[in-house]
Amino acid sequence: MSIDQTMGRMPIGFQSVDRVRETVTRRIIDKNTRRVGAPDYDSVVVAGNGIGALSFAARMARSDEFAGKVTIVAPPIEETRKLINGVSLRGRAADYISSAIGCTHTQLVQAITDYGSGKPACYRQTSSMAAQGRDGSWNFSRIGAWQGGHGGSDRPIVYGARNSRVTGGMWDLMADLGIRHIEEKAESAERMRAMANGTRPLLVNATTNPRLLGAEATTPVRMVLAVQVPFMVKPGGIAYPLQSSSAYAPLIRRNGIIDVGYFTPFADPLSPRSTWYGIFARVVDVGSGFDKDEELAIMTDELFGVGDALGLEPDDPDETLARALVPAAGFWGAPASAPGTLELKRAYSGGAPCFYADGMISAALGGLLAAEAVMKGDDADRVVRRALRPLRWHNYIWWVETTRIAVVADALMRLNVNLAMAYPHTAGMRLWAASA
Ligand SMILES: Cc1cc2nc3c(=O)[nH]c(=O)nc-3n(C[C@H](O)[C@H](O)[C@H](O)COP(=O)(O)OP(=O)(O)OC[C@H]3O[C@@H](n4cnc5c(N)ncnc54)[C@H](O)[C@@H]3O)c2cc1C
Repeated sequence: MSIDQTMGRMPIGFQSVDRVRETVTRRIIDKNTRRVGAPDYDSVVVAGNGIGALSFAARMARSDEFAGKVTIVAPPIEETRKLINGVSLRGRAADYISSAIGCTHTQLVQAITDYGSGKPACYRQTSSMAAQGRDGSWNFSRIGAWQGGHGGSDRPIVYGARNSRVTGGMWDLMADLGIRHIEEKAESAERMRAMANGTRPLLVNATTNPRLLGAEATTPVRMVLAVQVPFMVKPGGIAYPLQSSSAYAPLIRRNGIIDVGYFTPFADPLSPRSTWYGIFARVVDVGSGFDKDEELAIMTDELFGVGDALGLEPDDPDETLARALVPAAGFWGAPASAPGTLELKRAYSGGAPCFYADGMISAALGGLLAAEAVMKGDDADRVVRRALRPLRWHNYIWWVETTRIAVVADALMRLNVNLAMAYPHTAGMRLWAASA
């Protein structure tokens, strides 16, 4: 489909900035998928209600071939104030989600944050090392801007939004796409097949259950520990090195591994007093004998302590604070799906989640590209695997820097942040910022 045909389906009110975003996204689709023939399927049944599932389902439902033939099987989204899943949504991920749903960036950001696109966004990313002194106070080495330079980019780099509102907002925007929603947990391939609106359905697994359609589950070799909370600004205002409209990543070296912190502008209709959010994440090897509770307690102290030094206080942490231990998938490749099925979650999940803000962009792009591949009769597994390779590679390098050469990374960060973060972090701007 040409860009003009695609744009013909876009809502009135598309501005030139939306046109650029859609054009760039379409170029990525065209580069990664090719028409092989008619689709092998006449309908799809998607299990799951995350960003990957919804991007896939929305794009399929907007096609001529699959309109009215898309079923989602999943419990309704449960929205609570707790920050259970990813919050830092890359601007480029918003491009992909908007393209899948057929809405503008502004409509998407409005739906997920209740604000226009400017407020809960960062236009610049800074970083430095952080360390706690003997008196308990936090000290920060000289910061550097690794994306957006001194003045900031003219494109949004990251939005801060609660994950369950991102998916809730996506559902709201998808209300008119004719998708049938069966509000229950998917149980088996047989039951999913019986729910199809067609005789040759593709069954899609975008859930956290890798065995749902009978596939083998792999044993993780790494885990990610993470703590995150929404923050309110203290009466004195934010404190350097935190700066308005900028995300700041404080890095703490502890026992040979760097705890990766990230503070970025944020908006959540359920926590309206919070205008920032913060996270600390740490990747550990499964066999390293780490004590989960002790680690999460230390990281919560880091989160609250660094937040306090930045002029922030947690917003109702009893209700909003999330502590997670998440298995990390392998960095490279995933086996092909069994015939008649698509292991979508497995195809787009690679590397360590939580610590490089790449989980949601992978799900959004993976869902969008898989839909385009299915519509063209192409191999969705291969398409997603290949297209996501640069994201995986950057995740891998960040993991090496923060867990395998943490001493060197620490020294380089203190010497020159711009040099330390040049590749792939600054160089990878096109995988972060919106394309316009
Ligand atoms: C603490 C933490 C911090 C993170 N930080 C970031 C970040 O800053 N930026 C970023 O991009 N990513 C981050 N991530 C990763 C990001 O949240 C995920 O990669 C992303 O949300 C995955 O989305 P998904 O579409 O794969 O589905 P998920 O969000 O994993 O959703 C899968 C859904 O499937 C449903 N489900 C399970 N079983 C069934 C069933 N049998 N039938 C139907 N439905 C079922 C579940 O209820 C779930 O809602 C973070 C993750 C965590 C845990």
